[in-house]
Amino acid sequence: MSPFLDLPPLSAADFAAIEDRVAALLHTSADVIVTQGEALLPLEAAIRSAAHPGSTALNIVTGPYGQTFGNWLRDCGAEVVDLAVPFDGAVSAKQVAAALEAHPAIDFVSLVHAEAATGNTNPVAEIAAVVRAHGALLMLDAVASVAAEPLLTDEWGVDLCVIGGQKAMGGPAGVSAVSVSDRAWERIAANPAAPRRSYLSLLDWKERWTDAGRTVLPHAPAQLEMLALDACLDRIAADGLPAVIARHRAAAAATRAGVRALGTLTPFVPEDAHAAPVATTVRTPPGLAATALAAELLRLDPALPVQPGGGALAAEMLRVNHYGRAASPDTVQATLAALATALGTAADGAQKAAQAAWEAAWESAAPQG
Ligand SMILES: *Cc1c(COP(=O)(O)O)cnc(C)c1O
Repeated sequence: MSPFLDLPPLSAADFAAIEDRVAALLHTSADVIVTQGEALLPLEAAIRSAAHPGSTALNIVTGPYGQTFGNWLRDCGAEVVDLAVPFDGAVSAKQVAAALEAHPAIDFVSLVHAEAATGNTNPVAEIAAVVRAHGALLMLDAVASVAAEPLLTDEWGVDLCVIGGQKAMGGPAGVSAVSVSDRAWERIAANPAAPRRSYLSLLDWKERWTDAGRTVLPHAPAQLEMLALDACLDRIAADGLPAVIARHRAAAAATRAGVRALGTLTPFVPEDAHAAPVATTVRTPPGLAATALAAELLRLDPALPVQPGGGALAAEMLRVNHYGRAASPDTVQATLAALATALGTAADGAQKAAQAAWEAAWESAAPQG
């Protein structure tokens, strides 16, 4: 007998209720569409819905996802202005304002909030303000920021906000969601190239589900993934979103302090203000390949949330994915202990530094009481 089989069907009302819970998490009153696939699905859907020949997009590249978005935008025939910055920092609102000023035709901006792959995070509130003043639509990839740091979709003026459940939410990877502002719906409806009768179509969902009163699902819901998403929303509600965010902030602060105290390694993102709460990336010195270090750490403790960086970064960057349940003092301490063993150094100082940093971050970020 399996508890995962033979379940009663997920109703349209259940599906709509989960969408409303996601909207609350995103602090938005806009339409939220839960999409039946990993987060790349709504990211591609949002870009293909908004971009078209004749449009000009500003694609902000602060990590590998920005490169993917640029390729989709070009595929759609849009003119693309890439604003690329080094992957170990953040883009500033000033840089975005200068790009908008240099290219007045820009009508769409794609931005990644936090990058789990490189460990940096961008100041979305300030960037969104200059994008709004220019009159462009803003798409935000918030997959690695949701539940790890504040995400104020409506207050900031984010038109298309994309999330997935698998990072700080500690949930499933097989469902995701996008919020769509009224401005974004107007632009998408006016785009003759926006997908229709397609799995990538946001307009199909609007027509057949949202505008139809959310009473009949257009096709069978991904039952198990939806139940898992609901369960992870329950868990976030039980802990309280501010406490979940504070745990991620504390995990990043503690990991950074511990790594600095160990010596040999340095945070890949040097400035604390640019470091993502979702994951900490660590630079290995020349002669110590991050792939070999990750393999040794996993040999010491297969439960550690570590992996080498992707692509060319595999040589010099180790990722510590302290998100979801791994945003805990125990995981951070276990990671530092294994790092000390792998480097042949004492763990004591690093563990004390991490504990002090955790406590300081928790006190300044955690909700009272
Ligand atoms: C993790 C992540 C995604 C989801 O992509 P995967 O490759 O499936 O992990 C999308 N965007 C960002 C910024 C992410 O960190």
